[in-house]
Amino acid sequence: MLPVVALVGRPNVGKSTLFNALTRTRDALVHDEPGVTRDRNYGICRLDEARPFVIIDTGGIAGEEEGLAGATARQSRAAAEEADLVLFIVDGREGPSSLDDEILRWLRKADRPTVLVVNKTDGIDSRAAIAEFARYGIADVIGISSAHRQGLDRLLEDTLSRL
Ligand code: GDP
Ligand code: MG
Repeated sequence: MLPVVALVGRPNVGKSTLFNALTRTRDALVHDEPGVTRDRNYGICRLDEARPFVIIDTGGIAGEEEGLAGATARQSRAAAEEADLVLFIVDGREGPSSLDDEILRWLRKADRPTVLVVNKTDGIDSRAAIAEFARYGIADVIGISSAHRQGLDRLLEDTLSRL
């Protein structure tokens, strides 16, 4: 069985863009509207041919427990709980939000190996953006730009070293 990596994060941080970059497909729907990806989307990352892994794009965690958003949040949690590694994606331009804080709380409970991925660092001071999340206490942090394919080699290396 291939190892499983889950992309977890609130809506609009760039999970689907990263999924596309890692799977080199356009399978995941990328959209400006938060919450466009409702279901779980599975793909395979073969950027390192010798070490493929399954990657799950989740619908984002909208923080509501009722209705569709609640169902989506549960899917995301289920994906994280079955993963060998969680990539916790945050928005480096916006900095930490209360939704990120909430996700962090349940990720701690899920107790899966986690890499904090600070996305959208294109055109901004990546180190300063990363520093904003220091209080999250996640040792493994990486700044990337999914849209511009920056930092993906390092992210891939980091991911593979943990599988
Ligand atoms: P998701 O809801 O987390 O799946 O986020 P999406 O992948 O759908 O992206 C949400 C928005 O952020 C889209 O408008 C993307 O084009 C944009 N976006 C994603 N990654 C980046 C990035 O690295 N840099 C910038 N500047 N924008 C990005
Ligand atoms: Mg999405």
